[in-house]
Amino acid sequence: MSIQENLKTIEATIPAHVTLVAVSKTKPVEDLQEAYAAGMRDFGENKIQEMCDKYEVLPKDIRWHMIGHVQTNKVKYMAPFVHLIHGVDSLKLLKEIHKQAEKNNRVIDVLLQQFIADEETKFGLDQEEIQQIMQEEVQHLPNVRVVGLMGMATFTEDENQIREEFRSLKSNFDSLKNNFENLTILSMGMSGDYQIAIEEGSTMVRIGSSIFGHRNYSI
Ligand SMILES: *Cc1c(COP(=O)(O)O)cnc(C)c1O
Repeated sequence: MSIQENLKTIEATIPAHVTLVAVSKTKPVEDLQEAYAAGMRDFGENKIQEMCDKYEVLPKDIRWHMIGHVQTNKVKYMAPFVHLIHGVDSLKLLKEIHKQAEKNNRVIDVLLQQFIADEETKFGLDQEEIQQIMQEEVQHLPNVRVVGLMGMATFTEDENQIREEFRSLKSNFDSLKNNFENLTILSMGMSGDYQIAIEEGSTMVRIGSSIFGHRNYSI
């Protein structure tokens, strides 16, 4: 199936209130152009250099989502144009995004990444750290706007475990939302688990391989 056919098939399974981000990491510019021609405007990348290179050559109405782990010393390269940074997992990073946003005269939207998986390898903050950042830090950082939360479930066949992890993220999201009205985005769900994520309240899914095919990391 072509990228355009894959997109159509997936879009048909996603309700209107859920935003689809096409995760194009490692894929060539031609693949993004094909998705763009099919109407896709939200693209997700996990490496800043690669996102900047693609930004340079592709149409300027694309909304670029940084979905990977971000090193503070590289924030400056994407600060002029990034649409949403999903994986903010430390106060240090949040402060650096604020600083670079200020230099660029803009407000950058971000999601705080909550650690929900049963895996050592995934990044993220815990519920208390998120609470603390929201209550004590964000008011001092006017050039960042925390618009929601992001999380990744454990890589497992156990659907119940995945569902429980998404449910705990949604529950924290809902309780925070009572006090912070800017929180509107809950980014959870990838190719393998996005349907569970939507059932559990996701408003943004990040889908790569089901659109573009499997990634080849050796190139
Ligand atoms: C790569 C990646 C995705 C997309 O994964 P697929 O399984 O290819 O859909 C989603 N979110 C994050 C954070 C990723 O790094």
